[in-house]
Amino acid sequence: MKWKNKGHEFDAYAKGLVRDFRELGNQFYIFGAGLIGGELKDIIEKTGCFAGFIDNDRRKQKISLDEYLERGRDGLIIIATDDKNIPVIEEQLVCAGLKKERDFYEYRTFMKKIFPFLSVYANHQVYTELAQICLTERCTLRCRKCAHGCYAVGGETQDMDVETAKKSADYFFRYVDIVKEFVLIGGEPFLYKKLGEMVAYIGEKYREKIVIFSITTNGTIIPGEELLHLCRRYHVTIRISDYSAQVKRLEEKYGQLKERLERNQIAYTMSDRDGLWMDYGFESVDRKRRGGGAEELLQVFGSCRTPCREIRGSRYYYCVMARSVSDNLGMGLGKEDYLDLDEINGDKKILLEYEMGFSGKGYLDMCNHCRGAEAVKYPIPAGEQIKSPRWEGK
Ligand code: SF4
Ligand code: SF4
Repeated sequence: MKWKNKGHEFDAYAKGLVRDFRELGNQFYIFGAGLIGGELKDIIEKTGCFAGFIDNDRRKQKISLDEYLERGRDGLIIIATDDKNIPVIEEQLVCAGLKKERDFYEYRTFMKKIFPFLSVYANHQVYTELAQICLTERCTLRCRKCAHGCYAVGGETQDMDVETAKKSADYFFRYVDIVKEFVLIGGEPFLYKKLGEMVAYIGEKYREKIVIFSITTNGTIIPGEELLHLCRRYHVTIRISDYSAQVKRLEEKYGQLKERLERNQIAYTMSDRDGLWMDYGFESVDRKRRGGGAEELLQVFGSCRTPCREIRGSRYYYCVMARSVSDNLGMGLGKEDYLDLDEINGDKKILLEYEMGFSGKGYLDMCNHCRGAEAVKYPIPAGEQIKSPRWEGK
């Protein structure tokens, strides 16, 4: 979407939301104290407006629905249960005289359409789902269709210097108050010499703004004891991308890494061994050459809405793949496709609008070379290795 009224795009929409929220006492209840509710609580708690859980199960109950009603509807309810229970609870709430999409919301609708706006307009807090710092573009593997184009990066390529990495975190957290997941990533981030220093820097200064602080690794490098100690201290989750279906020798490495993480009581996740990637088509798609124009690019960007932001110094990139593929494959595209946090004068509404897909031209140059939402129709095996690193279209 193109900016037409920068800094005020959502004023009218947010006005009604804020009014309803104020009437409901400026606080949130989560209906459902199970797994989904627990994960949601980790985010909502950071607003300082979490009033507690409501649950029909007496054992989990913090308060019952009857107690909530007796208190006089003193909070907006977010229903956070599995899909089959949502309509049952909605009916229960309607029967109790509450109105859908005023007094209560289903959690996915709430997180997408309500929470980011209420955060800024009612609480002056920016919420974002996922942001990354790419510390290095170097990698120990050369995966075909790597979404960052790291297969084309030579071992001599300079990493981000640690002062820039720290500055990136400073810029991001100057404006963003709550991030669901903040990731240190690569390339392969365990190649980055000062990874421990970065973990400590972010952990010490910004950990309370982060729900999940993670490092994504391909599992080829076993981190040293000092780094593991820091990961444990700052509650870093290690996300291991499992490419052993393609690179058999990785099985042994994963075993060693998991053993080391468990010994150090560090949380980790493994991706699906037989997982599929989407081929975004960065090396082959060219919409303009096929006659596509700005309207098509607006549509591609609008239907994609990737959640993967990247911060590099003061430059906030909407799509980490667009920036990194363009740089790593030498395409030289989208040089202006970022929001400069130095230039928003502290206006959190501008940042919210950018998060929601607004920008000067309404799309990124790389969208011309990308399948966007259509990429799901082009599955490829995750982690297949290549020999030739060059981008043919260069
Ligand atoms: S997808 Fe493969 S090549 Fe790309 S960063 Fe991850 S491990 Fe490296
Ligand atoms: S369509 Fe544009 S924003 Fe979406 S993934 Fe592709 S390049 Fe990124």
